[in-house]
Amino acid sequence: MSSVFLKAANAALAICLSGAAFTTTVATTMAAPQLDSITQQPFGKTSKDGRPVELYTLRNTNGCEATITNYGGIVTSLKVPDKNGCLGDVVLGYDTLAGYESDPTTYFGALIGRVANRIARGQFSLDDKHYQLPINNSPNSLHGGPRGFDKRVWDAMPLETAKGPALRLHYASKDGEEGYPGNLSVTATYTLTNRNELRLDFTATTDKDTVVNLTQHCYFNLAGAGHGDILDHIVKINADQFAPINKTLIPTGELRSVKDTPFDFTKPTAIGARINQPDEQLQFAKGYDHNYVLRRAASPFARMTYAAQVYEPTSGRVLEVRTTQPGLQFYTGNFLTGQTGKGGAAYKFRSGFCMEAQHFPDSPNHPNFPSIVLKPGETLKETIVYRFSVCK
Ligand code: BGC
Repeated sequence: MSSVFLKAANAALAICLSGAAFTTTVATTMAAPQLDSITQQPFGKTSKDGRPVELYTLRNTNGCEATITNYGGIVTSLKVPDKNGCLGDVVLGYDTLAGYESDPTTYFGALIGRVANRIARGQFSLDDKHYQLPINNSPNSLHGGPRGFDKRVWDAMPLETAKGPALRLHYASKDGEEGYPGNLSVTATYTLTNRNELRLDFTATTDKDTVVNLTQHCYFNLAGAGHGDILDHIVKINADQFAPINKTLIPTGELRSVKDTPFDFTKPTAIGARINQPDEQLQFAKGYDHNYVLRRAASPFARMTYAAQVYEPTSGRVLEVRTTQPGLQFYTGNFLTGQTGKGGAAYKFRSGFCMEAQHFPDSPNHPNFPSIVLKPGETLKETIVYRFSVCK
């Protein structure tokens, strides 16, 4: 993007996203349907044990559509309007169940657990007991292990709610599964609201002390999945600090100010503006792959805080992320290697970005990070909202 265009795009975003009073508009498609709906179709059978898996399509009154499978709770497509009212699919993914089953590294669109992000060497202690998890991202454990929640079949229940169509998913994770203690009962409810939000509400309970960090792993490209890289997207992140990492992408424990670093997204900035700078942190991760410490909401009564806003100038699409979680992993698709995705598109280096609202990585090994311990009798409750609008 030329610097003149970048300046204009930044100015447009600043106007669109000025302060708390957003002037972006909830777009409708050219032919918006009157009623919201949810439909269901088969998505094949798992190769491991032949379990049938479904695909649910949630449609809101503005014509937006989210298609979700109960395999891994994966959002397989998310169609939202651009500035001209044309629907486009803004998430990366595969056409088939086999595509998702056979991909051990990307976690496209999936629900992530029991513990999202990395645990150093797969080791942690809880109540004086030492746990060793399987290593699936050498030398660390990543995203709940080789068969995390993204590779499980969830029970699904479609729902009509006042906010819009919803899909409630439930998974019972057994004591010892992927090395974690306690039977964990997890509910993840996706709602496609009539405000053009894809909202995700998690709850979890356990029968033994355990550790839990849940997130959602959509890779977005607001120009449309498969439409090149994401470097021209303009990002604002509501964080003054980030967690520096070592060369295996494990946080060092420091929480560093973003000021005067390429990690400062407190003002709208193109992803590509500084991503190739000779900065050790960027080099370790081949780009952005870091946890941001979200500012708390101004009101002590607010459950959620806004986490990030992203604007794509050619489509005019805007994504806003809000959450109850304390951290946001901003990942710029640095490990994409040309995977063949939907419609045969090649998902190359940095062709999608993730905004993973979650607790901090490797939390069990950092007492200074917010705790992810869940105890019997407690109910974990977390929410992540992706809201789509346009800025003309
Ligand atoms: C991690 C990346 C990882 C990606 C896919 C992200 O959440 O931060 O390091 O490559 O997930 O596994």
